[in-house]
Amino acid sequence: MSPHLLDLTFDELRSRLTADGLAAVHSKALWNSLHFRAETDALARKDLSPPLRRWLEARLGTEVFTDVLPVAAETPSGDGLTQKFLLRLADGQEIETVIMGYEGRHTACLSTQAGCAMGCVFCATGQMGFVRHLRPGEIVAQVHHARRILAARGLRLRNLVLMGMGEPLHNYDAVMHALEIISDTRGANIGPAKISVSTVGVVPAIRRMAEEGRPYNLAVSLHGSTDEERAALIPANQRWPLAELISACRYYGEVTQRKIFFAWTLIAGVNDTAAHAHRVAGLLRGLNAHVNLIPLNETAGFAGRESADASAREFHGLIQESGIPCTIRQRRGIDVAAGCGQLKAVRARGRAVRGAAGSAA
Ligand code: SAH
Ligand code: SF4
Repeated sequence: MSPHLLDLTFDELRSRLTADGLAAVHSKALWNSLHFRAETDALARKDLSPPLRRWLEARLGTEVFTDVLPVAAETPSGDGLTQKFLLRLADGQEIETVIMGYEGRHTACLSTQAGCAMGCVFCATGQMGFVRHLRPGEIVAQVHHARRILAARGLRLRNLVLMGMGEPLHNYDAVMHALEIISDTRGANIGPAKISVSTVGVVPAIRRMAEEGRPYNLAVSLHGSTDEERAALIPANQRWPLAELISACRYYGEVTQRKIFFAWTLIAGVNDTAAHAHRVAGLLRGLNAHVNLIPLNETAGFAGRESADASAREFHGLIQESGIPCTIRQRRGIDVAAGCGQLKAVRARGRAVRGAAGSAA
């Protein structure tokens, strides 16, 4: 049995407490504290029932944990619309969580792994390599962190995107478990239709999501219109080439009847010409698709540059003309300066610089 209380669904938490002889009403109270009110200290409430208090006092911090993630760094954006946090896990690993506020609704961008094994060359997290999978509770804890920050401003978190550090479908079980907990109407209550899972294209997991009837939105990071072009940016394309990826997307669309969002990060001269746009339109023909164009956020480990506005507009126009809805997205979440491993990367560089200065002194 997992000792991390945030790893547990409502039913699992009840089983854990009833196994210790506590009545179901106590597990409901504890669930409310952890998931509905997102309290940081389960013992803080004065009205805690004596049996639950005794149970917690005997175990918290030794046998069970509640996973409040301390903030290691924080960068509020200049425009006040995006707030980025570097959160520290129990083993010292650091992950990013971003809160975005646009058009009156608030969205949290969550990490699913420390680092990432997929090695996409333009991505700060990919440049870092893989460290480990997050547990469900570490994903849930990011949501609670964002809810507390927003609640302090009288706001509510309604949307989630899994576009932070890591590849969600490479950590399938933990991610799906976490999303079950997060979308529980008795807790954080974030509707499945307001949750988007973004993947580099882990083909078997896309099919599995469809087969298991997972009710979340799917976003697929495309970025290349031929296998050669895509593999140069996304090494995972060698394992799951375009034909297999598109076929899995067709299957997903047929089974779920849901629209699929395709992300295309525009890189000057690499994937932003009219020929690329025509090939993308060809690839997605017949799919219920929406293309999100994202300006490249330049990173230290990749020489590519952001596309010119004129190229982005032309690309956008061509996709639209082909009958596929398309938007040029503002940089947000992963693609803002601190997104997708960049806050962590910048901090690591800062440390290296400080370290070098220190040893010279
Ligand atoms: N691993 C998942 C989710 C995290 S990345 C995936 O790859 O989809 C979320 C999105 O940010 C992806 O579309 C990814 O391609 C994009 N991204 C990563 N680094 C970027 C950068 N430097 N500039 C713009 N978009 C980037
Ligand atoms: Fe991993 Fe996504 Fe970054 Fe690729 S873009 S390295 S899959 S986090």
